[in-house]
Amino acid sequence: MERHQHILAWLTDIASDLRALRQDIHAHPELGFEERRTAALVARLLGEWGYEVHTGVGRTGVVGVLRAGNGSGRLGLRADMDALPINEATRLPYSSCHNGRMHACGHDGHTVMLLGAARYLAATRQFDGTLTLIFQPAEEGQGGAQAMLADGLLERFPCDALFAMHNMPGLPEGHLCLREGPMMASQDLLDVVLEGVGGHGSMPHLCVDPLVAAASAVMALQTVVARNIDAQQAAVVTVGALQCGEAANVIAQQAVLRLSLRALDAGVREAVLQRVCAIIQSQAKSYGCLARIDHRPAYPVLVNSDAHTAFARQVAVELAGAEQVCQAPTVMGSEDFAWMLQRCPGSYLMVGNGSAGPMVHNPAYDFNDDILLRGAAYWAALAESWLTPMPPVLTATDRLA
Ligand SMILES: [Zn+2]
Ligand SMILES: [Zn+2]
Repeated sequence: MERHQHILAWLTDIASDLRALRQDIHAHPELGFEERRTAALVARLLGEWGYEVHTGVGRTGVVGVLRAGNGSGRLGLRADMDALPINEATRLPYSSCHNGRMHACGHDGHTVMLLGAARYLAATRQFDGTLTLIFQPAEEGQGGAQAMLADGLLERFPCDALFAMHNMPGLPEGHLCLREGPMMASQDLLDVVLEGVGGHGSMPHLCVDPLVAAASAVMALQTVVARNIDAQQAAVVTVGALQCGEAANVIAQQAVLRLSLRALDAGVREAVLQRVCAIIQSQAKSYGCLARIDHRPAYPVLVNSDAHTAFARQVAVELAGAEQVCQAPTVMGSEDFAWMLQRCPGSYLMVGNGSAGPMVHNPAYDFNDDILLRGAAYWAALAESWLTPMPPVLTATDRLA
């Protein structure tokens, strides 16, 4: 703890600024790729503190670069900036100014934790190398990470390691939780159309009923995880939508199913996808329907490098003490930082938002301002530890990439 005491002491003096900044961003939430106010605020502050600022990276993303000394190390830290299409129900004084938009995932807090570290690191420059701060748009399912990568993020701002942090309600306040290897699930989306022959509800023998085929397919799909996947492995098959028919006396022409599939391992992911498609096709065929399946791979498995995670854990223990550092659980949700980790090794960690309070994406959720200092101090400690005259040379252990 001693080692990073100077960081905490420095940040404590700006704690009220960070709180005010977080609440200001919270009051002005912006959806994915619309983060204009937030991006302008981030860009202005980084510029004032002496960063080389690049805007419009991946549409509304911002990158700040700061060099100190002659070190060759290149570290990238990423925060997300987007809000969700949710009506806020917190009744807080800094509650959202916009109906139907809310910082319900704490990305306001993530942005400010990284800004806090940015301000400290620029003012003190106790590091050696190149620091790249990545403020990413559109994390909530719109592909902001991919947009930044497609815009040449890692070619324009090469990094040897990338790290990102997400708050987690239910984990004790300020605790830092890490995990080696796969941590968050892949996601595949399927849109399925079962084509039948519509007609009069009194004459099913003259029709091909896609509703019956769809109902049967939904039930058959429940066997994929139970009967085709090793019980030691994790997978989820969810049919989130089934749309068919309008009237009691009409047999519909089409049924539409929308599925999401999740896995924590590339092989399991492939096996689930194969079985789901085979079951849909053969179920449709057995009822005389035609199935069209549109598959969209949405996210890869998020895989933390063992070596980078061990490094990040060491810094966490030095900062917070071993009793406040834990093993993160695997999560079947997805995270688009997975795309960045496919291109550059690193680690994604969680910071506890506190044991009480609603889960992220709930309309009553709020980021806990009491963890701003811990998060900012962690980023600063990680930067000072990584960016030294002799930066660590770690190789990725991307088992699944
Ligand atoms: Zn979210
Ligand atoms: Zn989030």
